Amino acid sequence: MKKSVLTKYIICCLVSLIVFVGMMGASGTSANPHDPTDALLKLIAGNVRFSSGQSAHSDISAERRKQVTRGGQHPFVTVIACSDSRVPVEMLFDQGVGDIFVIKVAGNVCNTDEIGSIEYGVDHLNTPIMVVLGHTHCGACTAVATGADVHGGSIPDLIAPIKPALEKVQAANPRLYGKALVSALVEANVWQSIEDLFQRSSSTRRRTNDGRVTVVGAVYNIETGTVKWMGTHPEEESLVSDMKYNVWE
Ligand SMILES: [Zn+2]
Repeated sequence: MKKSVLTKYIICCLVSLIVFVGMMGASGTSANPHDPTDALLKLIAGNVRFSSGQSAHSDISAERRKQVTRGGQHPFVTVIACSDSRVPVEMLFDQGVGDIFVIKVAGNVCNTDEIGSIEYGVDHLNTPIMVVLGHTHCGACTAVATGADVHGGSIPDLIAPIKPALEKVQAANPRLYGKALVSALVEANVWQSIEDLFQRSSSTRRRTNDGRVTVVGAVYNIETGTVKWMGTHPEEESLVSDMKYNVWE
């Protein structure tokens, strides 16, 4: 993680704690931020409101719909999350219409369609932050961790990108099993998705390199409603280096 990004992330978390009470009833209608740190702070504050039962819900009004119809969409964050019905992205961040560019797919995996959608959010809509959001009790991760029979069809191909994450978890912790294995896999799969995104998206690498976007991982707890922020990928510097991919543009 770059020091400047790490510092901003730490400051962001501290500020979020300090302003906790003040933000509890805050409105989500303020102008969307263009700075990665401001965008992250807005998400943290929104999740604090949601998880404490103080959601503002202010950006879902008829006026807001008219506003984003006339003015177009200007979301401040791109989020890829699991399709799980217990992971309602706009709700859990207490944001409204036009605030979040969302990609939902089982296991929050980054394959071709998902990466193309992320690139639209990051490159075309210029969101300053991009979040890979895993979640507790993920069925896709559980299926991979337990080697469950997923009944053919297209599901095996869908969850295949999770398998490298499982191999990494098992290599690092051979004795993990059951719930502990699934929990570790959920986090490893967030890192895996970020890795897959960087490996296959030169534009995301470029934008991360020059600071136009910050890509962070997070895990949503479906029971408490809280988001655990994981920060940027521990090997981001290497992953976003075009030299690693022998690309000279
Ligand atoms: Zn899931």
